[in-house]
Amino acid sequence: ISISHHERTTIHRRPTGRVPVGVPRRRMRTVVTGGAGFVGSHLVDVLLARGDEVIVIDNLFTGRKENVAHHLDNPRFELIRHDVVQPILLEVDQIYHLACPASPVHYKYNPIKTIISFCQRNSHEFQGSNLLVDLKSQSVLPVIGRGVRSCYDEGKRTAETLTMDYSRNEGVEVRIARIFNTYGPRMCLDDGRVVSNFVSQALRKQPMTVYGDGKQTRSFQYVSDLVDGLVALMEGEHVGPFNLGNPGEFTMLELAQVVKETIDPNVAIEFRKNIVDDPQKRKPDISKAKELLNWEPKIKLQDGLPRMALDFKNRIFKEEQGDVD
Ligand code: UDP
Repeated sequence: ISISHHERTTIHRRPTGRVPVGVPRRRMRTVVTGGAGFVGSHLVDVLLARGDEVIVIDNLFTGRKENVAHHLDNPRFELIRHDVVQPILLEVDQIYHLACPASPVHYKYNPIKTIISFCQRNSHEFQGSNLLVDLKSQSVLPVIGRGVRSCYDEGKRTAETLTMDYSRNEGVEVRIARIFNTYGPRMCLDDGRVVSNFVSQALRKQPMTVYGDGKQTRSFQYVSDLVDGLVALMEGEHVGPFNLGNPGEFTMLELAQVVKETIDPNVAIEFRKNIVDDPQKRKPDISKAKELLNWEPKIKLQDGLPRMALDFKNRIFKEEQGDVD
């Protein structure tokens, strides 16, 4: 994406904080790529609530119009159906680049496009990203450049390099986040991610599918915590990369147990063969974000899951009534 900024002189200013008292703050124009998706749409809610003009660019591959439907008659909101691998010219102040299928099911569907969508030349002020492990506690990263997940992992890593080079060459401010597993309302029901699978399965009274022995770990972050972290990063002074995730670590069997307690104590567990290259452990070290962004997640899995379950329940009900958009 090539984006020209609508007021070059003000793009490096924060939208809040630095404007002298009595001087009206100019309205920020913010682009969210992937803004009709799960994370993007929650960010859009926050940006509109604080008064920004928001332009969403989304190809609606995994994003859904329904996620932003409540903003369609807001004059400060615009939805452009557009694929970020194609150029687009817009004049804006900030860009949150969140466009990319995050579920292995989706990103493996078109691996070449997954890697390209990160490696395009771009001027994003913010580059969403996602690395595999706790970088401080595990010095040797089990990164495999030829695996079926590599299109995602390598795409993200290359995007970080390109983002920094672009920033140095063009003098554009950038921020880099490494987003860890996130869950919450508006995830695709059949996204294929573990939390959405377990919650959908439990609500449909189907067994929860645990891959492998279920002892692999992940750390699950509630979406509003992530959005707070993204905004803190964008508004702060530090480029990053910052790990944004919830350090609470759960095995898949423990997660299944929490879903059971939240939704239905009678739901069964069914073991399935694990997928290739599945990381055994993932837990973010967020000490840098805590110290420099003054950010840390607030919502425990036990508190976030019921909120997600409520949204899923409503959507599954609508689906069963044949009311699918
Ligand atoms: N997983 C599982 N059952 C499912 C879906 C996933 O046990 O129905 C496991 C998967 O093998 C992995 C973990 O849950 O170990 C997280 O998978 P997910 O696709 O949610 O995220 P990622 O692997 O990208 O962290």
